[in-house]
Amino acid sequence: MIETADPGQAALGCPECGVHVAPALLACPSCHRLVHAEQLKRLAAEADRATRAGDSSAELGAWRQALDLLPPDTTQHRTVSARVAALSRALDNHPTPAKTGSRWGKGAAGLGAIGVLLSKLKFALVFVLTKAKLLLLGLTKASTLFSMLLSMGVYWTIWGWKFAVGFVVSIYIHEMGHVQALTRYGIKATAPMFIPGVGAFIRLKQYPTDRREDARVGLAGPIWGAGAAAAAYAVYFATHAGIWGAIAHVGAFINLFNLVPVWQLDGGRGFRALTRPQRWIATGVIGVAWWLTAEGLLLLLLVAAAAAAWFGDAAEEPDAASLLQYTWLVAVLSLMTRISVPGAMLR
Ligand SMILES: [Zn+2]
Ligand SMILES: [Zn+2]
Repeated sequence: MIETADPGQAALGCPECGVHVAPALLACPSCHRLVHAEQLKRLAAEADRATRAGDSSAELGAWRQALDLLPPDTTQHRTVSARVAALSRALDNHPTPAKTGSRWGKGAAGLGAIGVLLSKLKFALVFVLTKAKLLLLGLTKASTLFSMLLSMGVYWTIWGWKFAVGFVVSIYIHEMGHVQALTRYGIKATAPMFIPGVGAFIRLKQYPTDRREDARVGLAGPIWGAGAAAAAYAVYFATHAGIWGAIAHVGAFINLFNLVPVWQLDGGRGFRALTRPQRWIATGVIGVAWWLTAEGLLLLLLVAAAAAAWFGDAAEEPDAASLLQYTWLVAVLSLMTRISVPGAMLR
């Protein structure tokens, strides 16, 4: 999946010592000259330009490409890895879309937990609004658009065109949440591909640096998805058109399902950054949400979360942001599934 040699690398003799170098190797086995030395120099220059322009995401992207071209057990690889980790952490400490939210943020801080919840919700909404351009850009990928239309056609035949369009757009917004986070951290990935009857997926071409990054990328989908469901509910309350309620309800349900902390599901990625005690806290929140809403899906989350807390490969260092995002999503989405909407077929 990772691109290897560039066109200039077709010659297999090492320019330094002339030894034959197999195409998959990153360094000459005899003199240790780096096979991609020229490309690495270009990437370093690119990273340098991005630093001066203050574009951390572009800088991260360049260094990540360099990592793919460096042999893993070298000093250079370790140095660049450390740089990537530091840049990624710095990005988390300086969220970019804060321009419009400072007054709001200050007022909300005084309200404690509810304030955090509200400011997160606001954050998600502002995010969706300001990233409308990104949402439209995603459609320029032919593979995404065609698979999306195919999915729409399948749902159309079952539930009618309005529902089909709303449902697919909901999934699309969820996927673009992942895309936005990946772009922010400079991680290469494929465009979203839709699978009729299942949903959509994105394949990463590079590994996230650490558990924290994995969790941010994973939970970004449900955060955007919850924003989409909230927007659909808002239209439903304003217009009383049942179709919007149905789209919102199914959107909330699908995003909640994605929070089951197993395998490659978004919840599994979110849980990766949680320590054992944090996992038990999340399990407790799921339990309370189930007790309050009686939403059957939460039982599945509860069992999986308890298993992940008990046997799972937990993080060593706590990550408060991942815990907050995960529990906030469980709370908001569970409550959303309780909003009664017309259309018994969806229940
Ligand atoms: Zn050599
Ligand atoms: Zn997702």
